[in-house]
Amino acid sequence: MTVNIAKMKRLSSAVPLLLITEAMMKITEIRTYLMQAATSVPQPKAGQIGHKVWDPGTSRNWLFVKVLTDEGTYGVGECSGWPRVVERAVKDLENLLVGQDPTHIDLLWSKMQTAIMGHGVLGTVGGGALSGIEMALWDIKGKITGQPVWSLLGGRFRDSIPLYTHASTTERADELVALGYKGLKVGISKAGDVETVYRIREHLGMDIDLMVDAHGPPWLTVSDAIAIGRELEACNLLFYEDPVAPDRIDAFRQVREATTTPLAAGERVSTVWGMLPYIEGDLVDVIQPDTGRAGGITQMKKMAAMAEAHYITVAPHSGSLGPVGEFAALHVMATIPNALMLERVEHDWEGRHRVITASPVFQDGRLLVPNTPGLGVDIVEDEIAKHPSVLNIVIQPTVENYEPGTAGEAPYFQQRRGRNRAWNRTVRSPSDDS
Ligand SMILES: [Mg+2]
Repeated sequence: MTVNIAKMKRLSSAVPLLLITEAMMKITEIRTYLMQAATSVPQPKAGQIGHKVWDPGTSRNWLFVKVLTDEGTYGVGECSGWPRVVERAVKDLENLLVGQDPTHIDLLWSKMQTAIMGHGVLGTVGGGALSGIEMALWDIKGKITGQPVWSLLGGRFRDSIPLYTHASTTERADELVALGYKGLKVGISKAGDVETVYRIREHLGMDIDLMVDAHGPPWLTVSDAIAIGRELEACNLLFYEDPVAPDRIDAFRQVREATTTPLAAGERVSTVWGMLPYIEGDLVDVIQPDTGRAGGITQMKKMAAMAEAHYITVAPHSGSLGPVGEFAALHVMATIPNALMLERVEHDWEGRHRVITASPVFQDGRLLVPNTPGLGVDIVEDEIAKHPSVLNIVIQPTVENYEPGTAGEAPYFQQRRGRNRAWNRTVRSPSDDS
């Protein structure tokens, strides 16, 4: 048999070129949509500290992005991680992406990562920008292939995702359980909160998963965090979240070694490298990437794979995140074996459902995984425009945790002064129950 080298060369070069030419689509523009996730917002005065009406919800912004292409198909995404600042980062990155093929998602992510490197590490601002853009690229790819994003990610393990939400009283816990929730989280930040956890556990029994979030607190020392972790052992928690501030991994390790209460962390970090110390050090039982700032859908999949190798589960954070990010989280959670639960703010801002075309379907404490191509959600631009961004940082409250007249002096540590007033918990031994 004779081999026609010249013909083979022509074929081997012509076929891929033809496929690439046919598949080539180009990004033409990236638009951003920044909004205040609140109906009315107190207007801050310059340099103001100690706002009289403090509501963390009023400082909340949502940032949506739309990646447009020359073929008319577009994708939507959402960024968290300080949205007003992230918006500028997204606009800076637009220049890098215009003219590129949106289907090469990992390549574009890598280019953006490298471009940001000159400004230092990615952080949550860079992570937020990459998350929203990458999410939109997956949306485009799903639309042009006619596949839901979960299908492109390797297929799904489940068609609905279990949720957990927040309760601080037994009455509220009853309401949420009646809605179908099988997981509840209690925030602890002040005197009496640990007792509340005990009350809710005793009230609900063991059929409900119970969690505690200390919010990476400045008001707890490492030894306080350990004491609380030990007190909570009798409550059989699913996890104790951010028992110490995440800035120092060794503090986390000290808590880990001193209590058997399972730990969770990760809502404030981006990319696999941000999550790596928690996983590599076996410091947590649950990682909590925030879908809007983890770095993107692929980064979350990689985090999940790293966690899987350490028998660690995944429960994405959703405290400040808006509705597009929630859709992306559903797709990720559908495709990973170690999905635990997705966080949800049950009573969110009443306009949440109006800024998207369709909300995810809630059924018995779970959200159904969408089956439509792409992410399965679009934004409503007219509605977003009604809520322009006003405030995106938390004004320090004048709460009882501060000495009178000292609010804002050094908030990260000053609550240690007057500790008895701020954290006057009654230490309860698990043996008290016996
Ligand atoms: Mg948290």
